[in-house]
Amino acid sequence: MTLFKFKATTHAAHTAKIGKPVSWDTMEQLIDTPGNLKVKSVTTNWAAKLSGLLNIKDAQAKAAGIKDHDESIEITTHILKRPNQDFYLIDTGVSEQLLQDPKEAGVGWMLKKYGGVDSMNAQPSTESIIANESGNLKGVFLSHIHLDHVTGLPAIPKETPIYIGKNEADAQLTLNIIAQGTNNRMLAGRPALQELPFNQDINGTLTDVVDVFGDQMFFAIPTPGHTIGHISFLARTTDGPILFTGDVSHTRWGWDHGVEPGTFLADRVASKDSLKLLRDLSNRHPNMTVKLGHQE
Ligand SMILES: [Zn+2]
Repeated sequence: MTLFKFKATTHAAHTAKIGKPVSWDTMEQLIDTPGNLKVKSVTTNWAAKLSGLLNIKDAQAKAAGIKDHDESIEITTHILKRPNQDFYLIDTGVSEQLLQDPKEAGVGWMLKKYGGVDSMNAQPSTESIIANESGNLKGVFLSHIHLDHVTGLPAIPKETPIYIGKNEADAQLTLNIIAQGTNNRMLAGRPALQELPFNQDINGTLTDVVDVFGDQMFFAIPTPGHTIGHISFLARTTDGPILFTGDVSHTRWGWDHGVEPGTFLADRVASKDSLKLLRDLSNRHPNMTVKLGHQE
């Protein structure tokens, strides 16, 4: 049987107006020198099947006797503040408006029922997070376009730029049959998605990293696997480097043991490679704070 595949969204996307590719070495030589960014992470509680979040068929997981269950996790937004007080969000948390009127926010009934929206809470809501922050919200960085990373979008002003990884909007997945409509409705009336300008080799593999603001403070790292255009981020803060893995690892156990996500991924081999890439980076820079996709 042929399974039809659907893009994550058919919303327009073009190359971002910010960011320039730099080598991995350039980033790595800088990251232990404190920078000028400040980061605050805000979480709300959620739950999901562990077998989706973690490969429980992995030999290490089996040996540890790990069984499937509803795992307590978090939906997170990170506030990234620049010295001029402009701030950005990395992923979007949960919007109050979305929970009060999912239909109005664009969430179809299938996704509401089976996508876990019914068990989400907005405490605190993305609306309140933005309202309580001094300075202006200048943009949103999405690690990838999955529901639990775009659930804060209804709280984001329509004109705010949204930055994603290369090819993320076009990433084709059978699962997108239920997600595409919701993603499109949440993005309706917004400017084209801005794909950060990663370099690509002749095989189409993304190389290097992107210096997002052009001041060597904030880097986007291509980490495909969970989705095709998934990206992770590295911020040089006043307190040292912070790595935002996104859903390269949802769980603390998966990160600590080097075990990739379970059924929630597009490409298992790429997912394992991306996890190894980030764990090796973390091992070379032991003072780096690591923020995972869904657990502290
Ligand atoms: Zn996620």
